[in-house]
Amino acid sequence: MKVSVLASGSSGNSIYVEGKGTKILIDAGLSGKEIDRRLQEIGVSGEQLDAILVTHEHIDHIKGVGILSRRYDLPIYANDLTWQGAANKLGKIKDCNCKIFKEGFMLGNLEIESFSIPHDANDPVGYLIRMGDNRVGIATDMGCIPPAVEKLLQGTDLLIIESNHDLEMLWHGSYPWPLKKRINGEHGHLSNDDAADLLPRLINSNYPRILLAHLSQDNNIPELAYITVKNNLEDHGFIIGKDLLLDYTYRDRPTMLYDVG
Ligand SMILES: [Zn+2]
Ligand SMILES: [Zn+2]
Repeated sequence: MKVSVLASGSSGNSIYVEGKGTKILIDAGLSGKEIDRRLQEIGVSGEQLDAILVTHEHIDHIKGVGILSRRYDLPIYANDLTWQGAANKLGKIKDCNCKIFKEGFMLGNLEIESFSIPHDANDPVGYLIRMGDNRVGIATDMGCIPPAVEKLLQGTDLLIIESNHDLEMLWHGSYPWPLKKRINGEHGHLSNDDAADLLPRLINSNYPRILLAHLSQDNNIPELAYITVKNNLEDHGFIIGKDLLLDYTYRDRPTMLYDVG
């Protein structure tokens, strides 16, 4: 499998996943034009895409979904309540491209499993994408980590995990109090400390690639997210570069194309 995070953060999210010729996006929260541009940067053309999966109906995840579906005649996969939340934001989508799923399904060579996450949207999900023995986990926009989700994400080969904010920066920052409470709440976003606490429990001996995602522009600094997570992993005996690869993702450009398996 191949994976690149095309964009990550509240200004737009999109993840590219490829497996034996099946090419999909998870979310498309930038303009259609910008998604096309970033796909080109990793050597993919929009015409090659097979589908878009949607995690939830917030605009930073669906901004370009309708445009891309119309431009490339792409099927869009989302659960029922997410469709209801997204319907009036996507423009007209062909009936045959509106795909409602419940939990698991196949998309070409990729086996897709969705799981519920705690976030303030209609029915938000993360995804686990499998091909053969390889697994990619996608878990952002979560206020906390339910035990069932933690279990699912254990031992993934590539994990895109939220590391949204530094708690000190959030509490001392300029956001209005209700927004601070929302971000830090059970249905908001994971902090650097949350990600740091979680990761030592998820890592197996398969040299996972861990990508820190959905970093806040105002309440985080990429290097701070990285160091917070790195320190806790090292406290637990993991060596970055030997036991795992740790990277962060960008709002303004794609990551490299990671090879999984
Ligand atoms: Zn988001
Ligand atoms: Zn969201």
